[in-house]
Amino acid sequence: MSVINCSCCNGPAEPHKIVNCCVCNKPYKIDCVNISSGEARKIHSKSGLTWTCKNCAQLGNDINSLKKIIIALQNDINELKSKMLAPDATNSQAHLLDVEKIVQEVADREKRKFNIVVFGLKEDKDLKTNNDQLNADK
Ligand SMILES: [Zn+2]
Ligand SMILES: [Zn+2]
Repeated sequence: MSVINCSCCNGPAEPHKIVNCCVCNKPYKIDCVNISSGEARKIHSKSGLTWTCKNCAQLGNDINSLKKIIIALQNDINELKSKMLAPDATNSQAHLLDVEKIVQEVADREKRKFNIVVFGLKEDKDLKTNNDQLNADK
């Protein structure tokens, strides 16, 4: 009689003492996964009873929690989208006004900077001309 090696302990077992995971199809010794020979017989008899190994069951749990996270994220994104796309929402109007104010403020600052530079150069020139005049006066 051929034997099958268990996926968890790699130990050999007779086929009737082995169950296959319904997801990954890996063979496990029933002693290793706490399945009675009665349960193993039901699984083998194709009665519809299936067994899932620990790894695949954990994977299923992980996928379910990921699904929940994805659904929550999708809701957040949709909420943000509707806020941004609504043209008459008070929020987006206030936001637009803020942006206009900021743009105006930045433009004003740039102008002021330019004024200072021009003024500084002017002052420098005046000083020079004053000095020149003073020298000329001497
Ligand atoms: Zn084993
Ligand atoms: Zn599995």
